[in-house]
Amino acid sequence: MRKNIVAGNWKMNNDLAQTEALITDLKRQSKTSDAEVMIAPTFTNLWQAYQTLKDNDIEVIAQNMHFADNGAYTGEISASMLNSIGVKTVILGHSERRAYFNETDELLAKKVDAALANDLRVIFCFGEELADRKAGNEEAVVEGQIKNALFHLDADAFKSIVLAYEPVWAIGTGETASPEQAQDMHAFIRKTLENKYGNDVADSVSILYGGSVKPANAKEIFGKPDVDGGLIGGASLKAEDFYAIVNAF
Ligand code: PEP
Repeated sequence: MRKNIVAGNWKMNNDLAQTEALITDLKRQSKTSDAEVMIAPTFTNLWQAYQTLKDNDIEVIAQNMHFADNGAYTGEISASMLNSIGVKTVILGHSERRAYFNETDELLAKKVDAALANDLRVIFCFGEELADRKAGNEEAVVEGQIKNALFHLDADAFKSIVLAYEPVWAIGTGETASPEQAQDMHAFIRKTLENKYGNDVADSVSILYGGSVKPANAKEIFGKPDVDGGLIGGASLKAEDFYAIVNAF
């Protein structure tokens, strides 16, 4: 049975003191759902966050990594470095990485391979832009992103892959996909997986929705059969809001 997951993507927010304060607040919250909970602080605060949450069931995950294991890549962090501090999951392919740092499907395929080779689980993000949806191309775009970055993998690799459908027009805009739009796309994504890998893989992969999820809309979105949780940006920066979303299952 696939897992329900709620992951908070803190992006480039929270210095060390703010990270410690938010973690203290998160520890005060109580969880009433079965969802796995993850937070992704910035690189500089990963170690501190990991140490602070070691005995807690909040998993500390990374927002990005480089595909190389080491070498002359100034400013970058490798999968093995994440692994060496206890991080077990990495977000790859976020639309902000694609838009501002020119990350392509081809580059992301290399990052996915490096993450899996280092025993990291991948939360792989993708989603169409507003122009794609207006032109009715959203399924073709999403299918292309998944195929180009993931379909060289064997079926077994999908035990370590979580998908995150994030329509770009809904990220940080306050504009959420309707629960029906999310369900339609998630069902299409699962069908795309099934066509390539069969029903067992399609049925076992968690597919998260991301894009302006808030306490007020989480229950309805998570209530859809093919939505297995959320990748949460803005609302993950406030402990009460984040846990209201976690507990929306
Ligand atoms: C995100 O950045 O992955 C995201 C979903 O952001 P927000 O929740 O702020 O739209």
